[in-house]
Amino acid sequence: MKEKTYAEQLREELAYTPKNGSGTLTADEIKRADDFCEDYKNFINTAKTEREAVEEAVKLAEIAGFVPFEKGKVYKAGDRVYRVNRGKAIILAVMGSRPLNEGVRLAIAHIDSPRLDLKPNPLYENDELAYFKTHYYGGIKKYQWTTIPLSMHGVICMNNGDKVEICIGEEDDDPQFCITDILPHLGTEQSKKPLGTAIPAENLNILVGSRQINDEKGNDLVKLNVLKMLHDKYGIVESDFLSAEIEFVPAAKARDVGFDRSMIGAYGHDDRVCAYPALMAALTCNAPEHTAVTVLTDKEETGSDGNTGLNSAYMKYFIYDLADMHGLNGRDVLTASQCLSADVNAAYDPMFADVYEKRNSCYLNKGVCITKYTGSRGKGGTSDASAEYMGRIRALLDRKHILWQIGELGKVDAGGGGTVAKYVSNLDVETVDMGVPVLSMHSPWEVVSKIDVYMAYRAFYEFFLD
Ligand code: MN
Ligand code: MN
Repeated sequence: MKEKTYAEQLREELAYTPKNGSGTLTADEIKRADDFCEDYKNFINTAKTEREAVEEAVKLAEIAGFVPFEKGKVYKAGDRVYRVNRGKAIILAVMGSRPLNEGVRLAIAHIDSPRLDLKPNPLYENDELAYFKTHYYGGIKKYQWTTIPLSMHGVICMNNGDKVEICIGEEDDDPQFCITDILPHLGTEQSKKPLGTAIPAENLNILVGSRQINDEKGNDLVKLNVLKMLHDKYGIVESDFLSAEIEFVPAAKARDVGFDRSMIGAYGHDDRVCAYPALMAALTCNAPEHTAVTVLTDKEETGSDGNTGLNSAYMKYFIYDLADMHGLNGRDVLTASQCLSADVNAAYDPMFADVYEKRNSCYLNKGVCITKYTGSRGKGGTSDASAEYMGRIRALLDRKHILWQIGELGKVDAGGGGTVAKYVSNLDVETVDMGVPVLSMHSPWEVVSKIDVYMAYRAFYEFFLD
């Protein structure tokens, strides 16, 4: 082998260059990443909403020996418990061997994703076509949601107290739904409009029917036909939509992307691509020293408010309940705790290079991404992880040979965003963001690298055991 030049030697010793895992990992490691992602694809295909993600998590957790948490009961090291919050968030804990006043290890991801919610009074007819009115949830680019197959998920609570669960459009022989767009031949005026205004929010109306009931007289006969079909199948009437949570999401399934099958395209990677690895870390970490707590939360995409979001007290109350079990003070447990806020970051996209700062972006295949701070403008609205905690986490990842990188969310002043990190940090917990880089974030078809997904799992797992 050729001898290294002085500059090459110095660069190796002193300079920082993140590695591309696809060229540096062993074939075995890449195979493990690919295998892990087969199960991940199954998970996101069945868990497209926060409620479905909780159901799947409970299923997998019970198989792994988790049982519902009982307040007041004293648990011993190695016990595995979970608590579901209103069907839309879940906390899982594996009891550690060390006393709780030495803190817990938290991994927190969110299981809600941008989508189209139905308005309380959604169904109407316009010129003999039936539609649902929607109110978009989270940050979407509205033009991306037209002319793609949509499926309908959610619950309807009827006046008699019954709850109907709905999932239409996921099975091969199910009908699907869509939002129409104008043909290019007649789109001359539309195409002159900026992307952000070309499709107004009140035009995100979903086509749900075109046949009328068999009667020539009367108005809204197509709408009436839809109501009749819904009543026949689910027993619901129009006013039941007033007490419902119905979400329309892209109907497409997760698929490998690229000739090399190195990536996965799917709806809702943000943030199930961190939620699933965090859940798997909880399920596979046996006998941790510190109690390992995984939280899969709701409402991140709308700012974390509400009683299933992380800006509420439900996570804190769970920690307090753990503390009470040993006669400890909940706030002492929180103060001694450490957290990985498991959320995605924007992968560098060469197609849109001008909004990224190359030296501080994360990249596909370079591993799990640590984000020291998020926010916008002058770090507005962020918790900025301390140098000390950053130092501890990077040392851990290096020690365990986990491929990792660092990333900011695009160029300074290009925009911005946030995660649940600040709500955890505000409870006096050491917190940093760590997650998977994503291309086309918040679109109906987001793209991630399999290597990065697997490295996220390894990072959460080793964090729990450290
Ligand atoms: Mn997210
Ligand atoms: Mn998001």
